[in-house]
Amino acid sequence: MSSELTRLTAAELAEKIHAREVSAVEVTQAHLDRIAEVDRAVHAFLHVGTEPALAAAAAVDAALANGEAPASPLAGVPLALKDVFTTVDMPTTCGSRILDGWRPPYDATVTARLRAAGIPILGKTNMDEFAMGSSTEHSAWGPTHNPWDTERVPGGSGGGSAASLAAFEAPLAIGTDTGGSIRQPASFTGTVGVKPTYGGVSRYGLVACASSLDQAGPCARTVLDAALLHTVIGGHDRLDSTSIDAPVPPVVEATRLGASGDLSGLRIGVVRELGGEGYQADVESGFRAALRRLEELGAELVEVSCPHFEYALPAYYLILPSEVSSNLARFDAMRYGLRTAPAPDASAEEVMAATRDAGFGDEVKRRIMLGTYALSSGYYDAYYGQAQKVRTLIRRDFTSAFERADVLVAPTTPTTAFRIGDKVDDPLAMYLNDLCTIPANMAGNAAMSVPAGLGESSGLPVGLQIMAPALGEAPMYRVAAAFEAARDAAEGGPLIHRMNGLEVSL
Ligand code: GLN
Repeated sequence: MSSELTRLTAAELAEKIHAREVSAVEVTQAHLDRIAEVDRAVHAFLHVGTEPALAAAAAVDAALANGEAPASPLAGVPLALKDVFTTVDMPTTCGSRILDGWRPPYDATVTARLRAAGIPILGKTNMDEFAMGSSTEHSAWGPTHNPWDTERVPGGSGGGSAASLAAFEAPLAIGTDTGGSIRQPASFTGTVGVKPTYGGVSRYGLVACASSLDQAGPCARTVLDAALLHTVIGGHDRLDSTSIDAPVPPVVEATRLGASGDLSGLRIGVVRELGGEGYQADVESGFRAALRRLEELGAELVEVSCPHFEYALPAYYLILPSEVSSNLARFDAMRYGLRTAPAPDASAEEVMAATRDAGFGDEVKRRIMLGTYALSSGYYDAYYGQAQKVRTLIRRDFTSAFERADVLVAPTTPTTAFRIGDKVDDPLAMYLNDLCTIPANMAGNAAMSVPAGLGESSGLPVGLQIMAPALGEAPMYRVAAAFEAARDAAEGGPLIHRMNGLEVSL
C-alpha cells in the first residue's frame, strides 16, 4: 500500500515540507516505494537514483532544520527526469543502445537548475529513442505502459515522464517537445504538459534531436505545479546560444489569477483546420465540451483560420530528419557508449558502421536516411529549402490568428491512447499523432495540453491544447488554470483521481 503522500500535488507537498510537517526524505522515500511497487507494470523509469535522490532530500531537510529559507518554492519535492538530459550521477541513454554505458561528464542546465532548487531527482524516464516517436515503443529498453490501461501506450516520446505522473510515482517530471513529445503524452495520460516558447528553457545538456525545434518543459498533474516547475527551469542561459534573454513570463501569478475562474475579456481562437472530420468521436466531443466550458467562463470564442497548418506535418518530416541526420552523426563509436568491432583488425569506418547498425533502432535509421537524402546536393532546395518556406507560412498564420485572439485552442491529438503494437509498424499512422502539436514547434511559440475529461466511449483521457504567442505563457496558463478549476468543480475533483486502469486507490 503506497503512502498518501504520493497522492498530493507538488504545491501541497512543498507546503508541508517547508512547514516541516513532513520531511523531504519521507516524501522522496514514499515515491521511491511507489516506484518499487508499480513500475514493473508501468516501466516509466530506465534508471532509479535512490541514493542521490535521498541525499538531495536530506540536504533540503538539513537546510530547513538550520532555519534557512527553502531554495525554491519546490524545494524537497521529487521529480522524474526524461533520459535525454545529462546527469553526472546517473546514466543518460536517450532510450538508445548506442549510449549504453555512457556516463555524462556534466549536468544539463535543466538538471543543474533542479539541483539548485533543491528538487531530488528520482530517476531517468523512458522515451522513444532520441525522442523520435509517439508511443515510447521505440525505446531500445522496451515500452512504457499507460497507467490508465496498461495494454495501451502512454504516448511519446516522453511517455515515461507522463506515465510516472499518472501512476503517482512522481509529482513532477520534465519532458522535451520537438513535435509534441510533452503535449501528446500529457493528453494520453490525463496530465498537464507544457512546451514553453522556443528558447525559454535552456537546451544545454539536452541531447539534440532537432535543434531548431527541441524545447524542454514541465510535466505535472496540475497547472499550478507545472507553472512552479516552469519558473525553476526557465530563463536565460548563456550556455545556450538560442536561449532568450528575457525573464520567465509570470506563469505562477497567471495561474493563480486563472484559478479564480473568470476569463471575461479574453478572446480564444478556435483553429478551423484542427479537429472535426477524421478525429476520434471522443476527442471531438471532449473538445466541443471544453469550448462550451471556456465560454461559460466568460471567454469570447472566435473562429480563426490557419490554412498552412495542413503542410506542417510534411514539412516537419523534412526538417526534423535533416537536423537528426546531422546531430546523430556524433555517435561515431569513438566518443560515447557502445562500440562494436566486426573484426579485430576492422578499420575505423567499419567500427563506425557496425556500431551505428547495432546501436540505432529502425525509426532512428529511417530518419537518418530521410534526412541525409533531403540534404543531399540537388535535393536540398526542393526538400529542405521548401520546408523552411512552409515554416515561415505557418509562423504568419499564427501571427494573423493572434491578431484576433489572445490564445488559440485545438484538440491535442486526433485520438485517445491506442493499443501497444497498433501503430508501431506503420510510421505514417504514428506520425499523424502529432498533427495538432507540430505547428507550435514549427513557429516556436508556446503551447500546452491540459486534461479536458474522459472520452465517453473509450473512458480514456482527452486533452485540450492551448497555444499562445512567443513568450505569451501568462495568458496560456491563465486559461488552463481557469479551465482546470471549472472542470474539477463540475466533475467533483481532479480527473487524474478517477484512474480506471492501474490500481492506485489507497
Ligand atoms: N512524435 C514526434 C516525432 O516522432 C515528436 C517527437 C518529439 O516531440 N520529440 O518526431
